[in-house]
Amino acid sequence: MAYVITPLCERAGLCVDVCPTDSIHFVDGDSDWPLYYINPETCIDCGACAAECPNEAIFMGGDEPAEYADYAAINENFFTSGPGTEFA
Ligand code: SF4
Repeated sequence: MAYVITPLCERAGLCVDVCPTDSIHFVDGDSDWPLYYINPETCIDCGACAAECPNEAIFMGGDEPAEYADYAAINENFFTSGPGTEFA
């Protein structure tokens, strides 16, 4: 399990700074990947990102609202099928 960023994300970016494993990534200006994303392979479930998010956009996987149930896969796809690891 890993934490998941949902469409409530407004790219404030505070989560990136507090993540101890550099698991949160994004692509500027790419509408195909409009959010921040958590790499489930490196997330250690510490919860620091969720505590810092001003929009309460980040949830423990499985605890996200039902309408965002697809976002665990969307976060993972960013790393497996998306633009890779060449970002901030
Ligand atoms: S739960 Fe912890 S390790 Fe996982 S993305 Fe958030 S801050 Fe990083």
